[in-house]
Amino acid sequence: MNCLECNVKLSYLDHKNSVDSLGVELCQHHRERMERLNEQNGTPLEAIQLYYGLKEQGVQAMLEWWDGKKSVDIAISRVKLNIEIDCEYHMLTHEQAINDLEEAMHSFKNGFTTIRIPHFLIKHYLDETVHNIIGIMEGLRTFIKVI
Ligand SMILES: [Zn+2]
Repeated sequence: MNCLECNVKLSYLDHKNSVDSLGVELCQHHRERMERLNEQNGTPLEAIQLYYGLKEQGVQAMLEWWDGKKSVDIAISRVKLNIEIDCEYHMLTHEQAINDLEEAMHSFKNGFTTIRIPHFLIKHYLDETVHNIIGIMEGLRTFIKVI
């Protein structure tokens, strides 16, 4: 097992600590960096897992990308795709729902597409989620070429 970030070989303990803590295989240095992001910015663990899931498929994404107004969980700038992880679906209030819609409108106006992915999807269907995001990227790329 190697670190998904720097490819250094992981010891049994490094591997165990990282998988237990984040659900991804990282060396101590990169695990601590992601743990800080999780604690300080509230980056969901699922965003970190999806980021590395995409990276393994050769997709270059950015974690906690600041779009000028707010922080986006994952951004794939090449195709102007923003991905937000929805952590508490059952808690969605009317107010949050209209805020989400408004945010989506602003991103569309700026040429960005925002998709929201429920956290449990990443937990249970990471491969399929990554596969579908790659499909969305291909669609966006075609669209960008057209205009
Ligand atoms: Zn590393």
